[in-house]
Amino acid sequence: MTGRHAEIAGAGLAGLTAAAALCQRGWTVRVHERTSEMRIVGSGLSIFENGLRVLRAVGAEAEATDGARQGWERETRDRFGRTTSHVRYAVRMYEITRQQVIGALARAAARAGAEIVTGSTALEATPEGELVLADGRRLKADLVIAADGVASRLRDSLGLKFRRRWLADGAIRIMIPRTEAEANSADGAKNIEYWSGARRMLLAACSRTELYIALSALDSDAEGKALPIRKDAWKRSFPCLHSLIDRLDGEARWDRFQVIHMPRWSRGRAAVLGDAAHAMAPNLGQGGACAMMNGLGLAVALEETHDVPAALDLWERRERPLTDHTQRLSTYYSALTTWPDLLRSAAFWTVARSPWLRAQYWRTAQHIPTGTA
Ligand SMILES: Cc1cc2nc3c(=O)[nH]c(=O)nc-3n(C[C@H](O)[C@H](O)[C@H](O)COP(=O)(O)OP(=O)(O)OC[C@H]3O[C@@H](n4cnc5c(N)ncnc54)[C@H](O)[C@@H]3O)c2cc1C
Repeated sequence: MTGRHAEIAGAGLAGLTAAAALCQRGWTVRVHERTSEMRIVGSGLSIFENGLRVLRAVGAEAEATDGARQGWERETRDRFGRTTSHVRYAVRMYEITRQQVIGALARAAARAGAEIVTGSTALEATPEGELVLADGRRLKADLVIAADGVASRLRDSLGLKFRRRWLADGAIRIMIPRTEAEANSADGAKNIEYWSGARRMLLAACSRTELYIALSALDSDAEGKALPIRKDAWKRSFPCLHSLIDRLDGEARWDRFQVIHMPRWSRGRAAVLGDAAHAMAPNLGQGGACAMMNGLGLAVALEETHDVPAALDLWERRERPLTDHTQRLSTYYSALTTWPDLLRSAAFWTVARSPWLRAQYWRTAQHIPTGTA
């Protein structure tokens, strides 16, 4: 069905995927992004097979993965660098800078015909299909999508119920240049998560030249979450990473992890998509992939069912179970933060050896998203 129009608030992974997928199905789409240049503070994204499939379906995979590092395995280690668990990925995984994924999606959406308006802030969405902008305009559409992230104001304006749960932990994200020696080392090919008490450091190179590091700590850990990074405090926790910690300079940001749960993802002609609807702790590296899967799934449902509210019901029935599962599992993982080191290592060891637990862990990454079969 052609001739329909969507207004989308938010040019993140969710909004851009939905924009590209809707345009591919004959919709006209305008995306409003409140920032003026869509620039993202240095951070990396693990994108597993399920997310890669969505990127391919919307025409963004080749550009998104160009020069990015394909990873094959992940380890957990203790504060002295001793390996406590080792997992070989069951599916493809690329570690990519967030900027590269967003750029690839934005260009794919534009190629498909979407208009992306930067410096345009949305204030409100209505169930009748109106988007109200900060400049006072009220834009009418067949569908309005609130893809404005975890702090979504559009979700609130729709009067939909939601629950926000702050988790005990959060992370500082930073990107630093990689040395030649690191790029050529065996460790450089792995995602490695070092644990020390409630602090952890994830090392995940995004390319031959960029190393993404996430420093997770409890929100109550003032030194651990301090910016600029308290190198002394992190060196105390990770004696084996002294020289790396010395290099943690530059722009960084702290985010406390939160979980958003909505009993319903839509109302009338308005849908809530991505983190706005189902933000989760980043422990499985699947929050962004869920946002993209649901963005594509939404466009497919609207292609199958002309009536917009009915299509939104179908979309939610089809996509929600996997999103709920992913959210639950990543929350359990966050709970490990407060466990004693030995018990946590035992838990990783058990997960690595239990086929049932492994299947739960890999379920999202192995899923074949709607619209990508
Ligand atoms: C530490 C950390 C690590 C993570 N690692 C991974 C990972 O490895 N893999 C993975 O898949 N996921 C990961 N995630 C999760 C992932 O980042 C999110 O799930 C994903 O970014 C959600 O995309 P989104 O488009 O819904 O929201 P966002 O990325 O938040 O995008 C929302 C967009 O809307 C814009 N906006 C906000 N308000 C308005 C408004 N009123 N009007 C117009 N525009 C507006 C914002 O500027 C932004 O561009 C991680 C998250 C964290 C916190």
